[in-house]
Amino acid sequence: MIRLLYQFPTWMQQLYRGVTWRRGTNACQDRVAYLTFDDGAIPEVTPAILSVLAQYRVKATFFVVGENIEKYAHIYARILAEGHRVGNHTYHHVKGSKCSLEEYMREVEACERAMNENSKIQRFKDSKIQGVKDSKIPLFRPPYGKMTFRQKRAILAKGYEIVLWDVLTHDYNPRYTPDKMLQIVQRYTRNGSIINFHDSVKSGARTIEVLPKVIEWLQAEGYRIDVL
Ligand SMILES: [Zn+2]
Repeated sequence: MIRLLYQFPTWMQQLYRGVTWRRGTNACQDRVAYLTFDDGAIPEVTPAILSVLAQYRVKATFFVVGENIEKYAHIYARILAEGHRVGNHTYHHVKGSKCSLEEYMREVEACERAMNENSKIQRFKDSKIQGVKDSKIPLFRPPYGKMTFRQKRAILAKGYEIVLWDVLTHDYNPRYTPDKMLQIVQRYTRNGSIINFHDSVKSGARTIEVLPKVIEWLQAEGYRIDVL
């Protein structure tokens, strides 16, 4: 039962076929984990998270909201300049079930435009940053982890890799203390795990507090932390 709360149940993974939940590596000696942050970029939280990541020399993946990129272009630029990877999280953080297919795809495209327009200056420099993967397949994560099957199909057809997660920290929920979030990570992370955090006002302080502990634990357990 507890697994249902922190991880997507197997039946749901079946329904969401074609979606990435976890990403294993080929090398059997290698253990890897992926930190992901949704809903930024915002001045209240994102810079503090970037500073923690820089302190530990760790790269992460940010699923950004289009309107935030346009409002806070300098923070988005900092994410890119520091060698992290970015993915599309729609323009207004919309719920798939509340949108028609056309509306949803307009949201995806508007976010994509905002990302591209604000990446132009960075792109050349990025290719020189060590450790950054050439992101040939763009990443998409649906807000709330939900979308309709038609939306899923259309996004895959556009060439996106849809990335969910297999470890949910619940950092947006004030009842989850940093200690509890750390316990979830310790209990459910395995090789290739994609760990879900938020750089949002709601999660803010607790995410920033738990992040160093999560990184230290992952590194002590022998995980390499990488961008998706
Ligand atoms: Zn979100």
